[in-house]
Amino acid sequence: MNEAILQQKDRACLWHPFTQQYDYARRDLLLIDRAEGVMLYDGRGKGYFDTISSWWCILHGHGHPTMKAYVRAQMERLDQVLLAGTSHEPAILLAEKLVELTPPALSKVFYSDNGSTACEVAVKMSLQYWQQSGQPRRRGLVALERGYHGDTIGTMSLGGVPEFHQAFAHLMFSSHRIPPPYCYRCPAGMEPPPADAAGLNDPDAPLACDCRCLAPLEKLLAEEGEGIAAFILEPRILAAGGMIIYPAAWLRRAAELTRRHGVHLIFDEVASGFGRTGRMFALESAGVTPDFLCLSKGLTGGMLPMAVTMTTDEVYQAFYAEYSQGKTFFHGHTFSGNPLAAAAALGSLEVFRQERTMAGLPAKIEHLGRRLERFRDLPWVGDLRRLGMIAALELVKDRATKTPFAPAERVGWPIYLAGLEEGLILRPMGNVVYLWLPLSVTSEEITEITERMWRVLSNPANIKGFSAV
Ligand SMILES: *Cc1c(COP(=O)(O)O)cnc(C)c1O
Repeated sequence: MNEAILQQKDRACLWHPFTQQYDYARRDLLLIDRAEGVMLYDGRGKGYFDTISSWWCILHGHGHPTMKAYVRAQMERLDQVLLAGTSHEPAILLAEKLVELTPPALSKVFYSDNGSTACEVAVKMSLQYWQQSGQPRRRGLVALERGYHGDTIGTMSLGGVPEFHQAFAHLMFSSHRIPPPYCYRCPAGMEPPPADAAGLNDPDAPLACDCRCLAPLEKLLAEEGEGIAAFILEPRILAAGGMIIYPAAWLRRAAELTRRHGVHLIFDEVASGFGRTGRMFALESAGVTPDFLCLSKGLTGGMLPMAVTMTTDEVYQAFYAEYSQGKTFFHGHTFSGNPLAAAAALGSLEVFRQERTMAGLPAKIEHLGRRLERFRDLPWVGDLRRLGMIAALELVKDRATKTPFAPAERVGWPIYLAGLEEGLILRPMGNVVYLWLPLSVTSEEITEITERMWRVLSNPANIKGFSAV
């Protein structure tokens, strides 16, 4: 259909997520017609690098032939069936593969269909577990400021990004919040650790700050630990909270503290899972196993919606009893474990095997790092953060004082528009411009992407509000 007509119909009928519709009163949306590999194409055939993996989910590029073959074959056999009292091969085989891929203690897989839900399931399981395990007082929940676990009422209650959730404050349940390991703006007032990747990724590397920012967690657990059910966090990177990348040593220390008080650990790897951080799962970098692991975005290689909450046999056993004992976990979603999505996930794991995807990452990650070094010299770049295939630049008004751009200045908007001109889908979050690259991106493509990004970010005309200082 003609693009002008589609734009008109879009304005008439569609309300887009995380979008101020008014922005498009006079400007057309980017209408994507097709995609291949790391490229998205509009109706005129102009290509755009999908530098944010279509909201952090695409792994092996768009339309990977192996994944398409898996989904096509599944389509011929079984499209959808409920998962309550019924099962099917793709859900079973995928569960088995996930159990193999994750730490040994995670032996049970509960399906749902999006990341928010995966986190809610973990929280509900933890709370019900304690009620059925003789510790009903354990009802408190701990989360991180700047953490993000989704947009449902439950996950908003555990979120730490007030910009998104303020309007619903009266609906939120209360929970404990501890400061984030935001090294660039250290909550304990310490110097950030040096930006050398090896140290950040080594859980045994001593940090000069000695993780002083964990003191509030330590205090909370010491005072109220026995009333706390679970601590939910994103391992190694608070993604939606501003691409805050933190040392593996912090994660290990936080996990040890939590364990010492018998509190459940819920790792939200909805964003970080499936290779994005350079490891299959970010938790591997700290060598810690949670009680619950939430996965979604990359689970199906980004092709179809699906999520899982994985847990231990110990948790599972607390629900396993005669029906009359009332220990059933009454939770489920219509599309839990959808066969097509499960087939896509199996296809994605097959691509990991066939293409030895993980083995190819270190060279790409190193190349990306080299290409980004020069961005540090831009006067509006306050911090450059990197983890695996993820890189983030925090823009500031003044480097010496780390003064942020005010939200109303919307520093990211002209950058977004200039990115489109350059054929890049950069979608800054607040003052943070980031790359969240598909694992399949080649070194040549990384060179091209960073070159175009340099043209966008080095041009003072695109950094509105900087001259104000
Ligand atoms: C995106 C995200 C979620 C929510 O997933 P949805 O599928 O959008 O509901 C939860 N946690 C993290 C860490 C995320 O990045």
